[in-house]
Amino acid sequence: MLTSQVLIAGGGPTGLMLAGELRLAGVDVLVLERRPEAMQESRAGGIHARTMEIFDQRGFLDAMLPEVRRLNVAHFSGLWLDVSGLPTRHPYLAAILQHRIERHLGEWARGLGVRVLRDTEVVGLREDGTGVEVELRGAATAARGAYLVGCDGGRSTVRKLAGFAFPGTPAKLTSLLADVELSEPPAPMFQVRREHGSFSVLDFEPGWYRVMTSEFDRVVDRDAEVGLEDVRAAMLRIAGTDFGMHSPRWVSRFSDAARQASEYRRGRVLLAGDAAHIHFPAGGQGLNTGVQDAVNLGWKLAAVLGGAPEDLLDTYHAERHPVGERVLRNTRAQTILGAPGEHMTDLRETMADLIGIGEANARLAGMITALDVRYDVGGDGHPLLGLRVPDVDVKAGEGTRVHELLRRGRPVLLDLGAGAGLREAASGWADRVDVVTAECADEPWRLPPSGEVAAPRAVLIRPDAHVAWVADGERVDGDGLRAALTRWFGPAS
Ligand SMILES: Cc1cc2nc3c(=O)[nH]c(=O)nc-3n(C[C@H](O)[C@H](O)[C@H](O)COP(=O)(O)OP(=O)(O)OC[C@H]3O[C@@H](n4cnc5c(N)ncnc54)[C@H](O)[C@@H]3O)c2cc1C
Repeated sequence: MLTSQVLIAGGGPTGLMLAGELRLAGVDVLVLERRPEAMQESRAGGIHARTMEIFDQRGFLDAMLPEVRRLNVAHFSGLWLDVSGLPTRHPYLAAILQHRIERHLGEWARGLGVRVLRDTEVVGLREDGTGVEVELRGAATAARGAYLVGCDGGRSTVRKLAGFAFPGTPAKLTSLLADVELSEPPAPMFQVRREHGSFSVLDFEPGWYRVMTSEFDRVVDRDAEVGLEDVRAAMLRIAGTDFGMHSPRWVSRFSDAARQASEYRRGRVLLAGDAAHIHFPAGGQGLNTGVQDAVNLGWKLAAVLGGAPEDLLDTYHAERHPVGERVLRNTRAQTILGAPGEHMTDLRETMADLIGIGEANARLAGMITALDVRYDVGGDGHPLLGLRVPDVDVKAGEGTRVHELLRRGRPVLLDLGAGAGLREAASGWADRVDVVTAECADEPWRLPPSGEVAAPRAVLIRPDAHVAWVADGERVDGDGLRAALTRWFGPAS
């Protein structure tokens, strides 16, 4: 029997991110992955600013950047959003294929000591008072861990075996995807709406194109075979041409079924990524959301394994379920907005007009990039509370930017001139929280999606970069700081 503190089912982007986060915190982790080889096909073609920031916070973004094509727009149902003014160091959509992202995540995770067991499928599970035992098919037969996290994708076996409810709305359309060569390639086209549906022709990488179709008048059995001829027929119905497609590398089907686990944790079993939420890939949010689930969960699970109160794990559901719910809502809205018909054309024109207003553009761009995600961390209502800390320039021993201070995945109490009372109040957490004294010349701090706030005198930053406490007055509220430290990092030692 294989053993590990945490078992992760699925070595996709969510599983790999979570595994790296846990290893960073010193947790022993084993990833069980059904595929014998790394996936070469790529569903996702891009990631947004918040995910870029996360990769930067953990120090592997620089290795990825040469493979990234920067686009200064994102979209809402094919209506362009200007992201170039967002308050982030990455005000662009990073076009990079999923298999490349997974390679970088895998290298980072393995570099931290993550074990990935391939050709290993989770087929059964049993939970008892101290752990979870999984039955495996493939390279091993069984494994046991104190916790099991299902990162095993939209059809998650873990979700089904552990009895999670997965309510939502069924598919109302059929979308097809083919990565092909084209003998008559057009200029790239994105979400072109016609009488019978919509299509896109995208040139992700030299030598081949991605052709995608959506037909709103048919729902195909999700297990039915799909081939190049299905995509060709759909293109002929919608666009009247197939642009001479041939030599397929990958053909796939997806839909707008939108479902979400009603709880993200049942005892010692948790869900993250597509295993917890599925939706139409409108706006390119799924992989991003999964990575962000993982970064929210990793440090909490590590803390609980290290002795923190177990209810910390419940904040994973409390914080991430509403984020997933919002993604489902906005993708449903985007899907219907992409439907054919004159009425929808009129509605799209109205929406496009509204998006022309800076504040409306910023609101949607903040949502699609997830830069505006704010968790309820309590406190006095300071505008920074619950948001991810901005990556402002600082002069500190260990770094020149705030996000660089998060490389070790540990909480940081950033002292920007709060004085001696701060260290004293936090002294009981010195083993778990890094106190960093720094100078900050950036003034004011810009907040997503738009807005600003005076630079604070101190901030308590969780390992996932979200702000848990702020001091901006003359005096440090020691009781408030101790309450925040206790809530997130356990009692003083
Ligand atoms: C056409 C399309 C375009 C998309 N574009 C974007 C985009 O631009 N941006 C974006 O953010 N998202 C996009 N997405 C969504 C994105 O691809 C997914 O959200 C993302 O892959 C989810 O990652 P995951 O790790 O949660 O799940 P997955 O990537 O599905 O990984 C799950 C892993 O678990 C393994 N597994 C499954 N069952 C078992 C088992 N029983 N035992 C062991 N292993 C198992 C699988 O082999 C797989 O490796 C797109 C999706 C589609 C369909």
